[in-house]
Amino acid sequence: MHYKRILLKLSGEALMGEKQYGIDANRLNEYAEEIKQVVDKGIEVAIVIGGGNIFRGLTGAATGMDRVQGDHMGMLATVINGLALQSALEMCGVQTRLQSAIKINEVAEPFIRRRAMRHLEKGRVVIFGGGTGNPYFTTDSAAVLRAIEIEADVILKGTRVDGIYTADPEKDKNATKFDSISFQDVLTKGLKVMDTTAFTLSQENELPIVVFDMNKKGNLLKIVDGQTIGTTVNI
Ligand code: UDP
Repeated sequence: MHYKRILLKLSGEALMGEKQYGIDANRLNEYAEEIKQVVDKGIEVAIVIGGGNIFRGLTGAATGMDRVQGDHMGMLATVINGLALQSALEMCGVQTRLQSAIKINEVAEPFIRRRAMRHLEKGRVVIFGGGTGNPYFTTDSAAVLRAIEIEADVILKGTRVDGIYTADPEKDKNATKFDSISFQDVLTKGLKVMDTTAFTLSQENELPIVVFDMNKKGNLLKIVDGQTIGTTVNI
């Protein structure tokens, strides 16, 4: 296998499936099956899940809510998604642990790096909920931070599009996809991969990012097998 330890980032919106809000059970189960396939190959899998399908602090602030209050709601939303994903994975027979960046001890372990790494070594999928635990950050930043902390080989950002394009493929028919691109070129060309905080953290720590279509069955396994799927951002 190409990678030994991966950090998979799933956005909250990805869990909505065809719905407008919340969690789509079918989509959740599909993801759980995809993740199981790579776990069965002996890959160590950590997951950071977003919360945008339930709440975003910025959206709250746009309606007059205090931003920090909204961000706390967003972080709790990621814990809800984490619990849902944990349940779906365990129904497929995958062992999991949910660790939260905000203390919520009755439902999730606190984030403890050494403990997380031990779970991974034992073949358990570790889901990181609660983002970074701080307002004004995103779960992309949490994903990069946790990936570096647990010494993951790569961050796999599962999205609805199959990679990074020269322009938005939904708006520009002539847009072409990159198989690979450097961090610097992403910045120079003004392409959007992650928010700047997350992206720079990844660049500074030379952590490669693969952007790929998580909704296409088998893609996750193909990536860990070393096949060229999506776009890889590297130094
Ligand atoms: N959030 C936060 N700190 C973090 C991560 C997330 O305050 O470290 C809040 C923030 O309000 C954000 C929401 O949680 O909008 C959901 O996360 P995100 O928008 O990254 O989810 P995604 O877009 O991946 O679904």
